[in-house]
Amino acid sequence: MRSSYDELKEEAWRANLEIPRRGLTIYTFGNVSALDAGQAVFAIKPSGVSYDKLTTTDMVIVDLDARVVEGTLRPSSDTKTHAALYRAFSGIGGIVHTHSTYATAWAQACLPIPLLGTTHADHLAEDVPCTEMMTAEAVQGDYEAETGKQIVDCFHTRDPREIPMVLVAGHGPFTWGNTAEKAVYHAVVLEELAKMASITRTLNPRVGRLPDYLVRKHFARKHGKNSYYGQ
Ligand SMILES: [Zn+2]
Repeated sequence: MRSSYDELKEEAWRANLEIPRRGLTIYTFGNVSALDAGQAVFAIKPSGVSYDKLTTTDMVIVDLDARVVEGTLRPSSDTKTHAALYRAFSGIGGIVHTHSTYATAWAQACLPIPLLGTTHADHLAEDVPCTEMMTAEAVQGDYEAETGKQIVDCFHTRDPREIPMVLVAGHGPFTWGNTAEKAVYHAVVLEELAKMASITRTLNPRVGRLPDYLVRKHFARKHGKNSYYGQ
């Protein structure tokens, strides 16, 4: 049966398939959503379905209060976190959550990922932030909505367009972008930055942040108004 959300479901389905393909997950872990800002709905992976069995029609359409609009399966258990981010971060069109190994290790260590090299600076000019550890009250409340609130609080003084990724303390990463495809790209980049930072700190625990003049050069040549670099 055709639906007016077919394209959105297809976009979300395609982006979800990239998660195992890029080595960011095992089993059913992780989820991607794609937003249709005009219709104020997003398509998200259903809960508990393995990636190799996933079809476009399995995608669940929910509104920005995480209520199911269309679909027969249960939406991902992280749906309320996605909804909270879409409500708070205007302009984003896709969100990814994984438990990819290195990014999750930094989240479990409750540490931001320090900006140590130009690969990091090419993508963001700041450390990858890590939220506060969630309180017992928040966990006992509406846990997934509180996870969203934790992330939004972390961006109180940060710009989600300039920092398209975060670590949730003790849990794992969320990334976003103007499309679901771009959000997946940021999830892959984040895992690589986390891996590089882990190895770098192992080799030299005292290594400092990349000097500001190099951070500014690398970030600006890809993102500034005078950007000229493409690869
Ligand atoms: Zn999770």
